[in-house]
Amino acid sequence: MEFVQNRPDKGQINLLDLDRSSMEAFFAEMGEKRFRAGQMVKWIHQQGAAHFDEMTNLSKELRARLQQCSGIRVPKIVYEQKSKDGTRKWLLEMNCGNRVETVYIPERERATLCISSQVGCALECSFCSTGQQGFNRNLSVAEIIGQLRIASAVFDTQRPISNVVMMGMGEPLLNFNNVVSAMSLMMDDFAYGLSKRRVTLSTSGVVPALYRLREVTDVALAVSLHASNDELRDKLVPINKKYPIKELLKACKHYFAETNQRKITFEYVMLDGINDSPAQANALCKLLSDIPSKINLIPFNPFPNTDYRCSKLPVIERFQKILMNAGYVTTVRKTRGDDIDAACGQLVGKVADRSRRSPGVAAAEV
Ligand code: SAH
Ligand code: SF4
Repeated sequence: MEFVQNRPDKGQINLLDLDRSSMEAFFAEMGEKRFRAGQMVKWIHQQGAAHFDEMTNLSKELRARLQQCSGIRVPKIVYEQKSKDGTRKWLLEMNCGNRVETVYIPERERATLCISSQVGCALECSFCSTGQQGFNRNLSVAEIIGQLRIASAVFDTQRPISNVVMMGMGEPLLNFNNVVSAMSLMMDDFAYGLSKRRVTLSTSGVVPALYRLREVTDVALAVSLHASNDELRDKLVPINKKYPIKELLKACKHYFAETNQRKITFEYVMLDGINDSPAQANALCKLLSDIPSKINLIPFNPFPNTDYRCSKLPVIERFQKILMNAGYVTTVRKTRGDDIDAACGQLVGKVADRSRRSPGVAAAEV
């Protein structure tokens, strides 16, 4: 990696973009010892340092050299909203005007941060507001981990963040390298030190990337299934046309077998009259019978110009009962922060230029 010399843009490197191994390569290139990387990661992520002057265990000379070739650039908070139920939402901006949302959800036992991985999403799931607005760009490592850094600073002492879910805007597996680096910082004891069970990646099923993911990490996995047959899933989650249910579940089994995970979570959005019948619940039980699964039913969160409606509560309960009777741990996700549009699928992040919808990008990357 060429961090200091020969950088194509000759610009300053943002140290918030580097996970520990990249930081080691960076210091090696500067002719410095490896342990400097750990010191720097601690300064940036645990002490919240934004200036080299604060880093008193680095010599003045080293600080001056760092100043020349690098910086610590953190996303800016554009605005913050607080819900009556304690949920908070931040709108963050990095440098080119595209904005992204992060949601903090306090619960009795834990506090979860819902992190975005892209500005928009190219996968166009028909029930998702993010998908309906198109894709603009991938977030950098700094923008992804910056969401946790900002929220951690706010909740330093009162309710530290105990869990991170990659369930904000975007498909994390289509921003693979940046997401993997950011997740490694989340789990790094020199940074946020979260256990791998407390970092969850949610995907709509980018099958080849799921196999790759298993090679580099073993975080908890949530898979957005939403239907038990291909005909319906093709309509709800169009990437299913490329990677149908059978292939997706094979990849899930592989991920599970290799990681000693307790269970894979399957997410299932409850859409009135579309996927919520008892027959569909039974089909789901059958489909998942040979995968250790937990099922999370998500009441559909409406957004403007959608024809979908959320299933009625008794229908959701009936669906849940069928799954539970078949032995599946099944939860119904509580809708949080609905007074500030912070619920699943409602994050829109005020994408600067919606006309840049570019499904071609997805096709090229998938
Ligand atoms: N792209 C990834 C992660 C972001 S979406 C994925 O699809 O898994 C996070 C979760 O929110 C997914 O399970 C998604 O299906 C769900 N979701 C999207 N729009 C929703 C909506 N309007 N109501 C309820 N859940 C929604
Ligand atoms: Fe993208 Fe996930 Fe929304 Fe589908 S549900 S459009 S994959 S963010």
